[in-house]
Amino acid sequence: MTRDQYTLVDPAKLYAEYEPKKQHQPEPGLEADLQPKPDLGESTYRGTGRLQGRRALITGADSGIGAAVAIAFAREGASVAMSYLPSEAEDADRVAALVREAGVVAVQLPGDLRDAEYCRTLVADAADQLGGLDILVNNGGKQVFNEDLETLSDEQFDDTFKTNVYGMFWITKAALAHLPAGASIINTTSIQAYKQSAVLVDYASTKATINAFTKGLAQQLAPRGIRVNAVAPGPIWTVLQVTDGQPQEKIAHFGEDTPLGRMGQPAELAPAYVFLASAESSYVIGETLNVNGGIPSP
Ligand code: NAD
Ligand code: MG
Repeated sequence: MTRDQYTLVDPAKLYAEYEPKKQHQPEPGLEADLQPKPDLGESTYRGTGRLQGRRALITGADSGIGAAVAIAFAREGASVAMSYLPSEAEDADRVAALVREAGVVAVQLPGDLRDAEYCRTLVADAADQLGGLDILVNNGGKQVFNEDLETLSDEQFDDTFKTNVYGMFWITKAALAHLPAGASIINTTSIQAYKQSAVLVDYASTKATINAFTKGLAQQLAPRGIRVNAVAPGPIWTVLQVTDGQPQEKIAHFGEDTPLGRMGQPAELAPAYVFLASAESSYVIGETLNVNGGIPSP
């Protein structure tokens, strides 16, 4: 290992070799077919026992941010249940193998977050196969750009809310029967919650909802000793960006408008989730941790 997440680096120069070109995949996309490959921390994330013995359920754990979180949690000592769509098996198998290499259990539970019954079964199966649940990461999400509200289909609006908001609600509600005092719920929101793009009206609306859900529920669950927080990524290189998450002419300059002048990598998100999942953040509740290259945020 030449570098790990603790190595001193110039963040403005990190990942300078990433220069993605226009490309397109149908939703939800396969990271295996994405060029260049996002850095999930495979060769850099070093665990130090911060989540020893914990049991985590992560949605969208096959690729991108969720996969980087799965790898980091595993190396910190947590067993991981992974949710993803059945068509993403190739990506999920690779990440599950990395989780198992860390010496912990990986449980693979594919299904569709738009389906309430799947969400409830997912939680029951995860808790059953991991022997309980201490950490829930609601991260699976849909983002498809649309330039004109008059052409935004009812179906897309519904799908985006079902995936990003209803899925989180169904899973969190079901998880409460299993989460003990000390447990942590982490929702993935976005810079879009407060700095909206004109072409992401439906998506941005779901992310603002996730922030409000997080902050309200955090107060409700604090007396039970369950902490609820969110992570708000900025522009991060994942397959979401080439499955119509952005108009493709934006890809070549993706993230260049951040103060750091570049897009981020999933590996740079994982430590934020580890912090919020572990007991070291015991007094951090209802917080949105922005990981966005310096874009001013509330
Ligand atoms: P990604 O495509 O790698 O991960 C998203 C995952 O969501 C998919 O792998 C898929 O498993 C899951 N998913 C989507 N629809 C689903 C469905 N109907 N049922 C089950 N699973 C479904 O992309 P990512 O960028 O890592 O996205 C992870 C989260 O980060 C999302 O919530 C996204 O909104 C958020 N986010 C991403 C960025 C970014 O720039 N990449 C910025 C802000 C927020
Ligand atoms: Mg995926």
